[in-house]
Amino acid sequence: MNNKVDVLIVGSGVSGLYCALNLDQSLKVLVISKSKLEENNTYLAQGGISTAKDESDIELFIQDTLKAGRYKNKLDSVKILAKESIENINKILSYGLQIDKVNGDIDYTKEGAHSTNRIVHSKDNTGEVVHKILLKEARKRKNIVILEDLYLLDIINDNGKCVGGIMINNENIKVVHSKVVVLATGGIGGIFKNSTNQRNLIGDGISISLKHNIKLKDIDYIQIHPTAFYEDDKSGRRLLISESLRGEGAKLLNKNKERFVDELLPRDIVSNAIYRQMKKDRIPYVYLDATHFDKHYLINRFKFIYEQCLEKGIDISKEYIKVSPAQHYFMGGIEVDLNSNTSMKNLFAVGEISCTGVHGANRLASNSLLEGLVFSNRAANKINSIVDIIEINTNKTVYNKLNFNCLDLNKIEEENKLMVINEIKRNRGDLQDELFDY
Ligand SMILES: Cc1cc2nc3c(=O)[nH]c(=O)nc-3n(C[C@H](O)[C@H](O)[C@H](O)COP(=O)(O)OP(=O)(O)OC[C@H]3O[C@@H](n4cnc5c(N)ncnc54)[C@H](O)[C@@H]3O)c2cc1C
Repeated sequence: MNNKVDVLIVGSGVSGLYCALNLDQSLKVLVISKSKLEENNTYLAQGGISTAKDESDIELFIQDTLKAGRYKNKLDSVKILAKESIENINKILSYGLQIDKVNGDIDYTKEGAHSTNRIVHSKDNTGEVVHKILLKEARKRKNIVILEDLYLLDIINDNGKCVGGIMINNENIKVVHSKVVVLATGGIGGIFKNSTNQRNLIGDGISISLKHNIKLKDIDYIQIHPTAFYEDDKSGRRLLISESLRGEGAKLLNKNKERFVDELLPRDIVSNAIYRQMKKDRIPYVYLDATHFDKHYLINRFKFIYEQCLEKGIDISKEYIKVSPAQHYFMGGIEVDLNSNTSMKNLFAVGEISCTGVHGANRLASNSLLEGLVFSNRAANKINSIVDIIEINTNKTVYNKLNFNCLDLNKIEEENKLMVINEIKRNRGDLQDELFDY
């Protein structure tokens, strides 16, 4: 592996890959992923990507995002999200993204707290389809190298300037020098007992930021999704039953099979209503009823959910689905400006690990894939405009792996290798006894 690149991108989800694709093709770009390329939250996204349908929908989209976010959002970011949504959706469509259509027109669907149908989707596995197309496009580019099973341990901090990253692959430590680093490390669900997230996503971007005093924002804003598939005694990744099923008409029922909440209210309100109902009913779940849909419609439109539930023994066209809330999304994160700059020079953050302020206290459904597209595009544009004037710094005295101040790389590797490897094993392994319960 060449240890000098222009841009090091940590994370191969929607935000990392799309950032890479928008960088100037003259730049040498390395994208890394701590485990297999598909093991990210992007791959799991079901419902779709929200977008203003046209210019006339922008203002309403802004208002819906602010309302769902309890008006704690950063207004400028929300305006950018809505205004730049159409061009970014068009760009991924130009890569060949296949989305659902009706008579040749986009089949926009609806999710909770959207005033209108404005979600583009590929059946109910939009994330997988988006990830595949971005990966395919990135692999065509000669300037982009994508490597899996490379785990970023730390960034290299030269007096407040980010100049590269230190990573581990199996038991080999590697140092990469770069002009710019982009953290696209995704969410934090792996530290929760019940979460819809990939288990390997444990907020590495946050722990690295804490180590280097990089500013964080709104880290208490954590979204709980109302409807994850309930399983007895199950801790670990929970199957998400997408909001779009409720958007299309599925109903929430209590133990007496009665409705108790408007299913399309914002997620925090529906989650709270379910918690209250579970307490009242003294059972750890409520029911989601999709039995009134035609079976063929369910199999076609909600293929993923249908098949996953069937594997778990539930035919959702005939039986109610037991659901309960689970950790789902991190609205807070590494504080960034409108171009995804963090408080550290030459360090950017994009996607779920960043806090652009778009979501406020509660994310509007399907706004996160869009945020990943819009703000990683802006990060790429910014990097394109500054990268020429940044020099690559290969000074070994600045390595600060795991906070050890060492003067010589070889010495670091010998003395601290065991500690580094133990740290990684601890992070990679099952964190059962450290799980947060909420
Ligand atoms: C079940 C589910 C359904 C969802 N449905 C939707 C939806 O319909 N619409 C929507 O808009 N959003 C949805 N979301 C949210 C959305 O999918 C995520 O917020 C978004 O995909 C995050 O993208 P990302 O690029 O920031 O991170 P991810 O796609 O999660 O990628 C993170 C990457 O960082 C890498 N990484 C992390 N730490 C390190 C490290 N130390 N070293 C190296 N690499 C590292 C990982 O390997 C991975 O490649 C859903 C989420 C889940 C869990």
